[in-house]
Amino acid sequence: MTQPGGDPLAHLRALIEKYTVITFIPDIDAYRPLSGPKKGSCIFRGCPESIAWEDARGGNFLCKGHYLTLKMWIDEARKALISGERSALFDEALSRK
Ligand SMILES: [Zn+2]
Repeated sequence: MTQPGGDPLAHLRALIEKYTVITFIPDIDAYRPLSGPKKGSCIFRGCPESIAWEDARGGNFLCKGHYLTLKMWIDEARKALISGERSALFDEALSRK
């Protein structure tokens, strides 16, 4: 799926800024199931679900459903960039933290 004239990365950032409390593209590949009982809430705004995933540093929690949502967004942006031969840009964006 391509967005004519759209920048997949900018689109992804906009989604993240709109629906979550973070302002960067999380390293979804580094997410892992919670290592133990933790206090916190899903980074999606107003999400009442119990948390199930944490990032490599043990923060930025996600519930089960939103982990899949975020993974899908990122996969779609990645695919769009690769088809536009701009996959390098994506890796750059991810490593910039
Ligand atoms: Zn959630």
